[in-house]
Amino acid sequence: MIYLDHNATSPPRPGVAEAMMAAMTTIHGNPSSVHGPGRRARQLLDDARRALARLAGVHESRVIFTSGGTESNHLALFGVAEAAGCQGTILTSAVEHPSVLNPLERLEARGMRVIRLPVDSQGRVIPDEIQRALTPDTRLVSIMAANNETGVLQPIEAIGALCRTAKVPFHCDATQWFGKRPLGVDTLGADLITLSAHKSGGPKGCGALIVGAALQLAPLLLGGGQERGRRSGTENLPGIAGFAALAGQLAGRIEEEARHTTALRGKMENELLKSVPDAIILGAGAERLPNTTALLIPGVDGETLVMTLDLAGFAISSGAACASGKNSPSHVPLAMGWTPEATRGMVRISLGWETTETMVDSFISAFQRSVDRLRKGSAFA
Ligand code: PMP
Repeated sequence: MIYLDHNATSPPRPGVAEAMMAAMTTIHGNPSSVHGPGRRARQLLDDARRALARLAGVHESRVIFTSGGTESNHLALFGVAEAAGCQGTILTSAVEHPSVLNPLERLEARGMRVIRLPVDSQGRVIPDEIQRALTPDTRLVSIMAANNETGVLQPIEAIGALCRTAKVPFHCDATQWFGKRPLGVDTLGADLITLSAHKSGGPKGCGALIVGAALQLAPLLLGGGQERGRRSGTENLPGIAGFAALAGQLAGRIEEEARHTTALRGKMENELLKSVPDAIILGAGAERLPNTTALLIPGVDGETLVMTLDLAGFAISSGAACASGKNSPSHVPLAMGWTPEATRGMVRISLGWETTETMVDSFISAFQRSVDRLRKGSAFA
């Protein structure tokens, strides 16, 4: 099976599973215990926090380990909203991940005002719209760094600068950005940054929220007061050890990997468009993650194409993994102005750290064959 669905999740990089296994088998203590086994567990936790903080270019006190992108987004949104007494306005975009959009619906029901800013035809939020929407009542701006379905990058530096001027906290969901683009708070300019380990070769169920030093954040999970009281619960040490192993591997490697992936994706897109000239690449006119290609293919059902390619030995997706299997069209292409009918032909190909040119070459021919076959009306001929 050739796996080209790294935005759903990416297989663990070498060293990640080993670090997790070592944490499982050799570190038995609870990091909050004062005895020797506890201190060894604490050491592992502290080292992991330092590795991630170094990669992100922040002080280690700003890293809160969580169970992944979804929890980090919840902590950022509910944490700021509750600290503000659930009053005021949150600005977000129409193309955020459901783990941002759905909590915001709940906050709306609790009395907060939520403004979902539109995007342009390339899927980008327009900073001027943010500027216009910012008022003294704004409590938070939440905009993702990179879209999971299209890979389109948002103008986060500009948004961060606007938020700083307006003295409004900026939350950036960098789940897809992490591991694919260099991370640095200078780049992101955000007060709250959501990270997840499993989109770039780390373990599933482990993530972090990077929190600005002076930010008021009500905890989501209450209990033993772990993570400086901001996220109670005994830490997922094996996951965190895997996350740290990933961070160690990414250090100094992201740019080089990005160049390699960009070249592979460029070749793939050129060839796919040669063989299916009426296909449309979503966000082709915008800056995108190096690994992501979202296509709309007229006259083809995306889900059927995914299944056809699966049978041929290729794993891609018909949109976001969390939206696949649902029959409703994805909100992302709809927000970019596409009709529900056009979005039926959507597929997403996302390359990763282990993708080779040979894999891409065989995918290109399988893709062409599958689209031809589906267009002729016989998927399994
Ligand atoms: N945000 C984005 C942009 C994502 O792509 C995802 C994963 N699909 C999440 C948040 C949720 O991350 P996790 O799977 O770690 O909960």
